[in-house]
Amino acid sequence: MVKWMGPPFMATYRGIAKLMVKLNVHPNVVTIAGSAGALFGALWFFPRAGTNIYSLFVGTMVVWWCALLDLTDGMIARATGKSSRFGAFLDSTLDRFVDAAVFGGIAWGMIDYHRVTALAALLCMSLGSFVPYARARAEGLGIDSKSGIATRADRLTIGLIASGLVGLGATVLVLTYTLFFLSAAALITVIQRGWDVWKANKLNPALPTKVSA
Ligand code: MG
Repeated sequence: MVKWMGPPFMATYRGIAKLMVKLNVHPNVVTIAGSAGALFGALWFFPRAGTNIYSLFVGTMVVWWCALLDLTDGMIARATGKSSRFGAFLDSTLDRFVDAAVFGGIAWGMIDYHRVTALAALLCMSLGSFVPYARARAEGLGIDSKSGIATRADRLTIGLIASGLVGLGATVLVLTYTLFFLSAAALITVIQRGWDVWKANKLNPALPTKVSA
């Protein structure tokens, strides 16, 4: 995502990371604070979209900035030498909570407003959750599988741009089509990762020996 978001985004991203390093904030605190803020934004504002569509925009802004903060944890951890296995686990597990809250919150807000959009959001939530599962399962089998057309950052960014636009008055169909598109992209990504595993398996079908802590 950071690649295609361009230089202004990269500058903000690096700026936040540098500030956190300067303030000596532990990367796990950044992970928890960013995720908590994003959860709040998604679960407080998105469900209110049915009665006030503008709350979709407010929720998007809160989630956007908090998710951006949460994206810097890895960079902070590397810069301060505080990378840990627990940090990595915490980061990706809390990401799942945020993803569920974002797309679940949209579904909740849209259920009485535009039911097809609610369905698209639920589809996006479930298919999107298979993407990191496929990677984690592959890694558990000792196979690297990070490829795919729609990584989490891509899905979250595109989804949030659409929800922000609809919150500002664009037709709700922008969100509907975007969510269906992201669902399809997530499914393709899972297939791509499955393909990675299939190829790696052909080279070496043996199961890895378990590494104990
Ligand atoms: Mg994070």
